[in-house]
Amino acid sequence: MDTLSRTERSERMARIRGRDTKPELAVRRLLHRCGFRYRLHRATLPGKPDLVFPSRQKVIFVHGCFWHRHPGCPLARLPRSRLEFWLPKLKDNRLRDLKNIRRLRKLGWKTHVVWECQLPDLNRLGPRKGHTV
Ligand SMILES: [Zn+2]
Repeated sequence: MDTLSRTERSERMARIRGRDTKPELAVRRLLHRCGFRYRLHRATLPGKPDLVFPSRQKVIFVHGCFWHRHPGCPLARLPRSRLEFWLPKLKDNRLRDLKNIRRLRKLGWKTHVVWECQLPDLNRLGPRKGHTV
């Protein structure tokens, strides 16, 4: 049984979501430095992509590895307790992400996902060894 109240649960989720913003900022800084101009969180597109490049018909999602279930990634390791709470939530997130990407592609958008673990330092964007994207 889930013993967290509704408020506690949404607070916990907000905290985890909040962690996703750090890699997002890193990507934004990098792209900006490289001269790319983009829009943020376009609510009209499926999944509200983090970065939108309208002229290129391209969107980028910056995903936290845990929250968005980066396959095979150590940062996506499950917590030891309360799996009955986490598993359905996390599975829903993953399915929602995949659905949004499918919808975007159908609308003619190219999609790209940058994972948190691909940002080992804020100036580089290469994937680490042994990770799938
Ligand atoms: Zn990862």
